[in-house]
Amino acid sequence: MPAGRVAVLGSANADLAIRVARLPAPGETLLAGGLQTIPGGKGANQAAAAARLGAPTEFLGRVGDDGNGGMLLAALREAGAGTAAAVEAAGEPSGTAAVFLLPGGENSIVVCGGANMSEAWEVTPAMRAELEAAAVLLLQREVPEGVNAQAAQAAKSTGSTVILDAGGADGPLSAELLAAVDVLSPNETELARITGLPTDSDDQVVAASRALLGRPGSPGVAAVVTKLGARGSIFVGDPALGAGEGAGRCDAWFQPAFPVVAVVDTTGAGDCFTAAVGARLASGATVAEAMRFASAAGALCVQTLGAMPSMPSLEATLERLAAGERASEVASPRRLSY
Ligand code: ADP
Repeated sequence: MPAGRVAVLGSANADLAIRVARLPAPGETLLAGGLQTIPGGKGANQAAAAARLGAPTEFLGRVGDDGNGGMLLAALREAGAGTAAAVEAAGEPSGTAAVFLLPGGENSIVVCGGANMSEAWEVTPAMRAELEAAAVLLLQREVPEGVNAQAAQAAKSTGSTVILDAGGADGPLSAELLAAVDVLSPNETELARITGLPTDSDDQVVAASRALLGRPGSPGVAAVVTKLGARGSIFVGDPALGAGEGAGRCDAWFQPAFPVVAVVDTTGAGDCFTAAVGARLASGATVAEAMRFASAAGALCVQTLGAMPSMPSLEATLERLAAGERASEVASPRRLSY
């Protein structure tokens, strides 16, 4: 089946990874132990992942007309994503993250939104055409909320499935945006922040997810897919969308993660997972199939350093999926009480 198009509207950042022995005190100058500029930003990560996973993908975003802007768009194209509708904004800085890497693996990060958060952000006619042609739209929260809402509405007007990854901002989600989102994908911390409810147990994740589902007269999403790191993920929502596990359709289930012996770096695992769900849905899979595929992709992602460079290919992910099935090492999705 030919894969439907995926549009990813969101941020691109140049991550300046600066190795330091400690953080500088006020007024102090420190010499760094090394510097690496790495393409990142949640939008760019997800566009790179969806493209690597075989979906015809278009990145819709803004970079500056500085050197980093060209580097970011080139990295996206190298991953296989289209950038024709992306904007190189004259006189604006590209989004930049200063990442201070400390001994022991800890890091401190300062993000400058730059062109990602500019007041000049607008959904251009070229972007609108891509949004209207997309089978799936992926959004995150590193661009202005009003731009996300506008993009979601444009995609929805032609029947696209809109997926919002809740990562990138802490504030409450606007009713305007929620009303145009089909699938919300937070991790358990983001779910707790958005709903104000505890998410420490599976039952609590289910209850918090339910609070975000639409009801007659109140806007809400059709499904919530919560990422639980090395444990796995939980679906709660419309069984017609999820088309759940063997026993038939159900409205809440737990998808176990694929086991990983040596975790190298979990950066970008959430972006990889959400993009994989989107890429799979665009090719006609059910959410249940897409979450299993995304779990295999997420497990591969944490075995390589970096975010964008660690996004796995379609071949590697299908291989991991098949190996898991042959060895029966990944438990089937488990139904949760609703
Ligand atoms: P986020 O970065 O948004 O917090 P997670 O850490 O939950 O996202 O990762 C997303 C998904 O990637 C998980 O639901 C899981 O399927 C997979 N994953 C993440 N960490 C691991 C791990 N250590 N082992 C196996 N799979 C993992």
